[in-house]
Amino acid sequence: MASSNNRRLRDVKLQGLAASPGVAVGRVLRLDERGRHQFYYYTVPASQVSREVSRLLGAFAEARAQLEEIKSRVARELGYEHSYILDAHLMMLEDRGLPVEVEQEIRTRKINAEWAVRDVTDRVINAYKQVSDVYLRERASDIEDVAGRLLTILSGRTEFEVSTLDKDVVLVAKDIWPSTIAEFNFNHVLGFATDAGGMTSHAAIIARALRVPAVVGLHDVTRHVRSGDAIAIDGAAGEVTLRPSKGVIRGYVEKRDAQRRLRPAAPSEPAETIDGVRITLRANVELSGEIESLALFGAEGIGLYRSEFIFLHRLPELPSEDEQYEVYRGLAEATGEAGANIRIFDLGGDKLTLDGFEPEQNPALGLRAIRLSLRTEHVFRTQLRAVLRANLHGRLRVVLPLISTITELREAKRIIAEVKSEMADAGIEHNASLPVGVMIEVPAAALMAELFAREADFLSIGTNDLTQYLLAVDRANENVAHLYQPLHPAVLRTIAHLGRTAQAAEVPLELCGEMAADPVQAVALIGLGIRVLSLAPGSIPQVKNAVRSVEMTSLTDLMSRALKLSSASEVKELLEKELPRQAPLFFSALATKTS
Ligand code: PEP
Ligand code: MG
Repeated sequence: MASSNNRRLRDVKLQGLAASPGVAVGRVLRLDERGRHQFYYYTVPASQVSREVSRLLGAFAEARAQLEEIKSRVARELGYEHSYILDAHLMMLEDRGLPVEVEQEIRTRKINAEWAVRDVTDRVINAYKQVSDVYLRERASDIEDVAGRLLTILSGRTEFEVSTLDKDVVLVAKDIWPSTIAEFNFNHVLGFATDAGGMTSHAAIIARALRVPAVVGLHDVTRHVRSGDAIAIDGAAGEVTLRPSKGVIRGYVEKRDAQRRLRPAAPSEPAETIDGVRITLRANVELSGEIESLALFGAEGIGLYRSEFIFLHRLPELPSEDEQYEVYRGLAEATGEAGANIRIFDLGGDKLTLDGFEPEQNPALGLRAIRLSLRTEHVFRTQLRAVLRANLHGRLRVVLPLISTITELREAKRIIAEVKSEMADAGIEHNASLPVGVMIEVPAAALMAELFAREADFLSIGTNDLTQYLLAVDRANENVAHLYQPLHPAVLRTIAHLGRTAQAAEVPLELCGEMAADPVQAVALIGLGIRVLSLAPGSIPQVKNAVRSVEMTSLTDLMSRALKLSSASEVKELLEKELPRQAPLFFSALATKTS
């Protein structure tokens, strides 16, 4: 890593996380950390409380108007499939929870609107920061962003103005906030590089959705550059070169141009290998706002709906049956024949948890997911009733997270059958044809897959957790991130075993971990026998391109060689050497070497 006194050195290479593929060569625009304004906090006399409340409501209305305006700009300039990134913010402003809570804070404590906004949002942010689930932890930045906007409006200041950018730049910042990104003129943003962030950070997710190359988690890139410096980034390799020399620039430019020649697969084109093997690409969805993007990216239904996201911003209050019904009905209607897999709440442990449950010593192995659903049966039953009713409007399935014993599956199925018959007895309209799947995330379930295949309607491999538990590596712990290796032969062998088992049992098999969103790992999975992948909608076109560029027979041979290797790095090396040979059009352009 470079040090601050060599900032003028050329060809300084930094390694970060490969957040969003693509190559960008340009000039740095360094963003300062968005201004944390000084606000005045004071108590108000009772007679002024309603004035503070109306200032607050005015600020919420103004924030909504600003975000709507940004959203339509994004839709206009980029297409509306990108504008959904602002929905989480808008939802927060519209949500009964936040405005009502802040208003209550003003009324009960008789404090000014700024103070109330800061206190309430800090509480929510802290709650999010406590959870060790990286994805949920990152959601704290949504709230911080909304809080910043409200405080800015209340204080009458204008935001840092970046929308007037008129040169092509690579943004370099400590972190990138969703609404800041949304305010850029995207035509001039070539890519970005940030100190902070992991693969599931906002910066990374948004970059992938916008298909802008990005490298995150660089720790101190902001210390080594200033605006105007030349920079080259390779988002697929997670590599950044500061002040690149001519020869190095040439390497990056060649790679960039090769990539540009690749035509993105159209939504209507099938994900089919050269030798005619059809692959199904479905979507992983967390927010209802993402539904609009399914058709645009060509998703064949939803392979994973992380239903616990309905709890976002509202725990410990439980979402009612009707609220859930509306969400699931929306998913059913949007996906039609292709259908949607509703994952039963994956709460507890390292994720959000229900009220009344204490933090645990070893949360990843604790009372989470299906274990918690079976413990809080009323929550489980409410969710099931909502799904069964919504199922009248499409083809829903439920999938049970973190199953480790057959008893859990049997118990869950017994409850499902009971709920159905209670609904029938009570004359509540529903569609009882509801396949029940099991997520294979625990080594025991993988080893016993044959048994689960007999009693479940389908299996879905969650490689994020499966990798964590197979390798005994906390998926959210930076200290052991180097040991979190989805290409570890143990992971690959387990997936191959699951592929064979499901085929022999003739039970449908899907895979919905992050691996599926990486083109190299996605084709590796296909070579191991997986035929249905579920991934972030924005990653579908690129993975489809990868699928369309490979031949299944060669891929199968390649993966049988990979299965005999002894480490993840050997597997990676083999794939990086062989895939560009087998599918030069796609993988040479994606290749990571710059020399
Ligand atoms: C997984 O574990 O792979 C998965 C898809 O579930 P989550 O990431 O929500 O735990
Ligand atoms: Mg999981």
